[in-house]
Amino acid sequence: MSESNNQVFVRAKKKINDIYGEIEEYVHETTQFINALHSDAEIVDKAERELFESYVYKVAAIREVLQRDHMKVAFFGRTSNGKSSVINAMLREKILPSGIGHTTNCFCQVEGNDGGEAYLMKEGSDEKLNVVNIKQLANALCQEKLSESSLVRIFWPRERCSLLRDDVVFVDSPGVDVSANLDDWIDNHCLNADVFVLVLNAESTMTRAEKQFFHTVSQKLSKPNIFILNNRWDASANEPEFQESELLAKVKSQHTERCIDFLTKELKVSNEKEAAERVFFVSARETLQARLEEAKGNPPHLGAIADGFQIRYFEFQDFERKFEECISQSAVKTKFQQHSSRGKSVSGDMRSMLDNIYERITIFRNLKQDQKNLLTERIQGTETQMMQVTREMKMKIHNMVEEVEEKVSKALNE
Ligand code: GDP
Repeated sequence: MSESNNQVFVRAKKKINDIYGEIEEYVHETTQFINALHSDAEIVDKAERELFESYVYKVAAIREVLQRDHMKVAFFGRTSNGKSSVINAMLREKILPSGIGHTTNCFCQVEGNDGGEAYLMKEGSDEKLNVVNIKQLANALCQEKLSESSLVRIFWPRERCSLLRDDVVFVDSPGVDVSANLDDWIDNHCLNADVFVLVLNAESTMTRAEKQFFHTVSQKLSKPNIFILNNRWDASANEPEFQESELLAKVKSQHTERCIDFLTKELKVSNEKEAAERVFFVSARETLQARLEEAKGNPPHLGAIADGFQIRYFEFQDFERKFEECISQSAVKTKFQQHSSRGKSVSGDMRSMLDNIYERITIFRNLKQDQKNLLTERIQGTETQMMQVTREMKMKIHNMVEEVEEKVSKALNE
């Protein structure tokens, strides 16, 4: 993934994780303080204390989701149009099995794994099935009796693919011609997808099943991001009847027009200008081969299948650039915006509760001060009273002594 696009999501993820780290500390500290207030004085009641504790769990849950957050891209199209090949080409490695006999009959999700190992996990199981190579993975997938809407997760070492390192998750689907239960598919696998890629066979026109699938997607999701890849464009270039480049250009412009109409007039998910940036003519097989050659240190054109390789290769790269831009922006918007507004509402709630408690404490303190003042006044009054009494007593005693003395001396004189 290019520096700038990659940065948007990765940086935003780091930033929001840091902010939530601070919120978590703050929530912990506040809860301790609130607990102390609850046991020391009866300023905070049980319900309030419990509410504060619920914030600790809320924030912890958001942090967990945040750490798991990734950018998800889902691939659709008829069987054999080249979905697995496109994913492999983007990952620059043959990860998903492709070709006859290896049709994907369930959803396959490829995601990065921090450890150096590759393994797969079936839905509803924690068992890690080791995968050493692509053949083994293909066999493992074939042997599994999986329903078409179930999910197999393939964990692939992050260090082997930059897109996986950048938290992109790829979902390959069974062909849209296979399933009658598109609703289930969408509900189970698509609602949290950031980008959809429709992989078409450039040698034929878009089928009803392919169209219908995206109609349902756009009914369930507001303005889904859809890219259309007219794959196998190398095969068209190889067709003897298209050896005339003008004819090939004509076919290309017809396909382009149909795809743009589909996105703008039928699905209404983008305007003409946006749609024009979403339609590409590529060869996944060629791109994958070129990249495998490049990995060996060879020039990419060693992977060429037909004339015009360079243009198709550029077009694939152009697709990747636009795709990265789109996925990164969309993921930041849909995921982080939601988390930050939740974070804002938690801290807002806490703040108003703390304001409330502070107000109560102030009233309580003023009350205590008033009581203290009253007591001091009383003590002072008593002290004055006592002083007066003491002075009076002293006087009385003094007078009494004088009187007694006078009486005694008088008696003695008599
Ligand atoms: P999927 O069923 O949609 O996942 O299709 P696969 O990726 O398994 O591809 C089916 C077959 O088409 C495989 O034999 C691929 O090698 C081949 N294929 C895929 N993409 C291209 C392409 O761009 N050009 C050509 N000539 N063959 C392709």
